[in-house]
Amino acid sequence: MATYTHQTKRCPHCGKVIEKRTVTGPYPKESLVKFTGLFATCPFCGKGFRDSDACELAVMDPPKGYLTKFHTGTVVLAAVFGMIGLFVIIKGTEAAANPLGAVLLVWAIGGLVLFSDYRRYTRHTKTIEIERARSVERLKKDPAYAKLLEEAGFSIPEECRPGR
Ligand SMILES: [Zn+2]
Repeated sequence: MATYTHQTKRCPHCGKVIEKRTVTGPYPKESLVKFTGLFATCPFCGKGFRDSDACELAVMDPPKGYLTKFHTGTVVLAAVFGMIGLFVIIKGTEAAANPLGAVLLVWAIGGLVLFSDYRRYTRHTKTIEIERARSVERLKKDPAYAKLLEEAGFSIPEECRPGR
């Protein structure tokens, strides 16, 4: 089920390719997100632009689904494995040479699918905790940047003001 997403990012000013990335998995937005400052500088023309993948956690939420415990797709997949197991139980020996083994196998796969999604959730929760603290520090240390964010329409939390 490996799905690949290729991303080519160009400078909006000079059009030169700044970044090429390939991520795997069914949720590319979660893999492409960068917990950095929102504004990047083009290495070719030196002009600034807003990085569409950047997420400044002090003023923004992580991408949709990033902190959900289970993706809908995962739950559906696990349910399918669960039903295959039930089918084998109902049909018994007609469905498989070793019904009990087959049931345990498909249920184990279903459980593993759910478990790995939950592991992703706990990993992401930790990442958010660390990156949100970094984000607050970034704004604190750079009031000019915080001002830019404010001008771009973000509301700056009090904890991000210098001297707090
Ligand atoms: Zn450029």
